[in-house]
Amino acid sequence: MRILIVGAGIGGMTLAALLKQRGMQATLIERAANFDHAGYMLGLWPLGYRVLHGLSLHKQFEAESIECKHYEVRDNHGELVKNWSMQPIADRFGPNLSCTRPQLIKLLHSGIGDTDLRFNTSLESLNQEGEEVTATFSDGTSETFDLVVGADGLHSKVRSLVFGEQPYYHTEWGGWVWWVDLNSVPAETFVEHWGAGRFVGIYPTQEGAGVYAGAPTVGDFAEPGAGRRQRIQDQFAGMGELVDTCLTAMPDDNEDLFFWKLSDVRSKEWAQGRVVLLGDSAAGFLPTAGIGASMAMESAAVLADELSRTNSRFIEHALSLYVKRRKHRVEVTQSDSRKLAKMMFIKSATVAHIRDVATKFYSLEQLASSIAKAFDEPI
Ligand SMILES: Cc1cc2nc3c(=O)[nH]c(=O)nc-3n(C[C@H](O)[C@H](O)[C@H](O)COP(=O)(O)OP(=O)(O)OC[C@H]3O[C@@H](n4cnc5c(N)ncnc54)[C@H](O)[C@@H]3O)c2cc1C
Repeated sequence: MRILIVGAGIGGMTLAALLKQRGMQATLIERAANFDHAGYMLGLWPLGYRVLHGLSLHKQFEAESIECKHYEVRDNHGELVKNWSMQPIADRFGPNLSCTRPQLIKLLHSGIGDTDLRFNTSLESLNQEGEEVTATFSDGTSETFDLVVGADGLHSKVRSLVFGEQPYYHTEWGGWVWWVDLNSVPAETFVEHWGAGRFVGIYPTQEGAGVYAGAPTVGDFAEPGAGRRQRIQDQFAGMGELVDTCLTAMPDDNEDLFFWKLSDVRSKEWAQGRVVLLGDSAAGFLPTAGIGASMAMESAAVLADELSRTNSRFIEHALSLYVKRRKHRVEVTQSDSRKLAKMMFIKSATVAHIRDVATKFYSLEQLASSIAKAFDEPI
């Protein structure tokens, strides 16, 4: 079976590693030049961690990550709203482990063996004819495959080529990501400041703590360059000592920082002929529930499972089974992430105050009900 995977991200690399484990070989293309970019922080729920277990990469992942033992929410001024212990989930299903995206990608890379991985290569076009798909790459060459997997993320080229424009969900918020020293943040705790018209999340990894400072994308909030540091320091002032520490450590205006617009996308269809979507290209995730990477990894596990039970003649049937097993579950957790975004990203001070009072009464399971349910359901 000749398989092309477009995108060596979390989903694409997981799929390549699982196929390799099953004795199948894929060609993997990646637009980036290497895996060295700074990236961002990722919390991996046991859903994704279980997939690493299947690849025998779990021990190394555990050694390289930090367990999130508490999830803490603070208000617009840094006062504690709620501190949830993650222990009940960890005891039943496994830990929530936190790392950087490059760490996880490099770990998955160690699992793909001699898979043909081509950096600096992006997809230009696709042409399906009969039981074959011909892909044209950015270097002008073309190759023919039995199956093309679009694992090329939120703004997927495969999706737009094959399924057309799909509806995006915009929160109209976005935020800056930077890193601070691990010693300056609470240990083994994800701390989020749910403000009014502003949000700051702080997530420790072994390589430093990732800070996400979000707000509505109006005015010059998303503008890079001169004055950025001061503007952000002004916007997030008075959110408490921890946020102040993070603001002080914010890089200079000339440093290239990652700005993440908080939008997602839901593709109506996931498979057409011999082209299929995987991960964020099929259903993108807001970061609010920290579950996009786990979902991409689960989807890779199911796709690898279905492909390993068939041959190139019955690929379309295998894809239809993959979609049946995955689409509903992924969309339900995606909806949970949107619901959480509505709680976290509130502009009005009055509504934010009501939210803070209500949040004190929430259990972690109530906060993200379908995700809690997903732990206990087969995939
Ligand atoms: C700041 C931030 C924080 C997040 N935090 C969490 C978290 O805590 N927990 C969690 O589970 N999820 C988190 N997510 C979401 C998670 O990262 C994604 O859901 C997950 O990476 C999806 O995996 P993917 O393989 O579909 O896409 P990606 O990992 O984005 O990979 C897509 C890959 O395709 C490549 N590519 C794109 N276009 C092309 C092309 N035309 N040709 C070739 N290659 C191409 C890209 O370079 C990229 O390497 C976060 C995301 C962000 C941005």
